[in-house]
Parts: sequence; structure tokens; C-alpha cells
Amino acid sequence: MNSITHLTSHPEPAARLETLLSQIDPQVRRILKKSLAGSELSQEEAVVLFNTSGVEYNALLQTADRVRQLRCGDTGSFVITRNINFTNVCYMGCSFCNFSKTKEDAEAEFISFTEIADRAEEAWARGATEVCVQGGLHPDIDKDFYRNVLIAIKERVPQMHIHAFSPFEIWYGAKKARMTPEAFLQDLKDHGLGSMPGTAAEILAPEVRKKLTKDKLKTDEWVRIIKAAHNAGVPTTSTIMYGHVDGPADWAFHLDLLRSIQKETGGFTEFVPLGFIHYETPLYKENPGQVRTGPTRSEHFKMHAIARLMLQGYIDNIQASWVKMGPETAAQMLRSGANDLGGTLMNESISRAAGGQHGQEVMPEDMVNNIHRAGLHAVQRNTLYQTVQDYGPAADSGLNFTAPSDLIVVAGAAG
Ligand code: SF4
Repeated sequence: MNSITHLTSHPEPAARLETLLSQIDPQVRRILKKSLAGSELSQEEAVVLFNTSGVEYNALLQTADRVRQLRCGDTGSFVITRNINFTNVCYMGCSFCNFSKTKEDAEAEFISFTEIADRAEEAWARGATEVCVQGGLHPDIDKDFYRNVLIAIKERVPQMHIHAFSPFEIWYGAKKARMTPEAFLQDLKDHGLGSMPGTAAEILAPEVRKKLTKDKLKTDEWVRIIKAAHNAGVPTTSTIMYGHVDGPADWAFHLDLLRSIQKETGGFTEFVPLGFIHYETPLYKENPGQVRTGPTRSEHFKMHAIARLMLQGYIDNIQASWVKMGPETAAQMLRSGANDLGGTLMNESISRAAGGQHGQEVMPEDMVNNIHRAGLHAVQRNTLYQTVQDYGPAADSGLNFTAPSDLIVVAGAAG
């Protein structure tokens, strides 16, 4: 496997960007030029960028596209992975959650170790390099449960990379096992844990976080578990959930905190912005008029673009989640700061034709097509961003190349 490097230079777009920057507000121009020079942005500067609109907003997206190219080359990537959610039963009561059920609920599920291993084996047969295993905090989970999940998968498919257990699950498992999170994580690593989703981050700004999580997993506990994972040699992703009761200052705080953790540990593989989906959540239903219905389209673009600028040099993989935004918008993000489309998330129960709003699976060929439509070189990667299969540059795809400026006009037209 080779690492992903396809760096080329594009003098023409760079000259166009220079012209655009000369026409915008001087404060925004100074911040964007600072980013182009590779300098670190402050929280205050990030807030200025979150408040841009019009031509400044377009300049932000084009600057993020340029910094993406300087940092990642002309490659867009995806991973073939399968989500295995072993239970939807959870009593933590996070107000933003539309996933958890009680044990008595007709839709309650808690699948066996055999079923978990069966799903991992099927995924391997279909070309997956990773399974992403997460679940609710079911009261019947015992002290050995998380370790036994790993053992079941590794016994059946030893080569499969196991990306599993959010920091909330680690917190819960460590309590059940009466271990420190550090010792608990080391035990999981010894039994095959390859990496962890950095979910349950939500918003790390403490006051907003309290409203979302009933303060069960506090900011400092989330940070402790993430650092413990990194120190044990277990890399994690990093995430944000935005567009509910939060705002630009909270987003800037969150990005700054992730950056400071990364400076210390180097353990984040990527940053994944996840827009809030309000349907059926207690947070939305119980607070009429006080909770937003998720981010606007332009906020989605700003989050990816500003993350690219804030995190550059520290977390250089910015992932656009097609599950939250749809494959079309996610592909447009590839020309506004992101360099990765995430996982195919195969799920046998949902056919390609019958998906929900954005479906539960994107085929690898669709990932390749979307990356090519963004004008980038497409590669299938593994969890650690090493190339598994190279699908070549956009010109090889036979699809029409869409110029970045057109994409940015589309991006700026809505939201
Ligand atoms: S811990 Fe996870 S599954 Fe449980 S309520 Fe919170 S978000 Fe939902």
C-alpha cells in the first residue's frame, strides 16, 4: 500500500483566487491570506469567517479548496466499511438522539456475538477493509462485553480492521469493568481494537454540551478518553455535531480544542463535521422555537472550509459525510475544503434502490464517480489513509469535469 500523494500545482486557479481576494473585505482578506501562508488561525478569526456571506463566503470556500490542494494534493478518497450497530437500546437520554430505544420497545435490538461476526465476515467478502462497531449503552452489557465483540470479530476475520466504540462506550465499559479508561483501552487494544470513532464529541463547549448530554460525559472526560486512546496507540477520528443550540463561537472553541489535543498526541486521523438532524429528537420537540432544524447549506460549507483552515498542518483529512448531506453535496465539499467522502457503510437490509433520504449505502463506483466529478484523483483508502486501490484521475473516468468555480457558485447559491 502506498500513502496518498498526488500533488500537482494549478497556477490558474491560484491567480483567480488572488484576484478574488483583492476584491473582498480587508479583514477577511487578511485572515484568508494568513491561511494560504500556512499560519494558524485564532478562535476570533474563525468566528469572523463563520459570519461571512456573499463574495467573502466565496473567497473562503476557494481558499479552503486551495489549502486542501496544498495539503492533500489532488486526491479524493473513500473507505469501504460496514457499520455494525449491535444494539439500539440506551438509557442515557441524550436530548439530540433519535436512535435509542428502551428494552421493551418493539424495535429494540441486541444482536449476538455470532451475528456481529457474521456481518463482519460478509463485509470482508464484499471488499470492506474496516467494520465500524458502535451501539447504545444497553443495561445488560457486562464487564467483558466490549472485549468479547473484538474477540468474536478477530476469530472470524483476523485481517479486518476494527474501528469501534465511542468515548461514551469506553466510559461505560470502563465503569462496568471497574477499570480506569486508560487500563480499559489498553485491554481492548490488546484484543484487536484498531481505532475509535471520535463521536460523542457533539459540541465540546461546556455550556452547550450540558444542554445536549445531561452532562453525563463531560468535556474533560471526553478529552481524557481520547488522549488515553491516542497514548495507547489507538488513533481516533474527531467530530462535531452542529446546527442545534450552538453558534460560531462554540464551533471555533471546538475546533481549537481538537487542534490543541492533536498538537499533544497526533492521534486524530481526520475531522468529520456532522450536521444535526432534528427529526424526532427530544431536544427539538420539547423546546419549540429554541432549537434549529440543523445547519443551513452554507453553514455546512463553512464548517468544512473553516475546519480545513483551522486544522491545517495538524488534522489534514477533512471528511464530508454523505449520510448527513447526500452524495451530491458531499462531492461538492471536495472542492470547498474536504478531501474525503468517508465510508460506503454497506447495510444488507437496504437495497441500493430503496434507501431513505440519502440511503444507507453508497457503492464504491458511486464514490469514485463523485470524486471524479469534483475533478479529483480517486482512491480507495484504508482506515489510516493508505491507498488500497487507485482509480486514477478525473480524466480517466469519462465523466464531465465540473470546474471548481462552478461548484462554488452552486455552493453559494443556497442556504
Ligand atoms: S449515549 Fe448514544 S445511543 Fe445513548 S442516548 Fe446518547 S447518543 Fe443516544
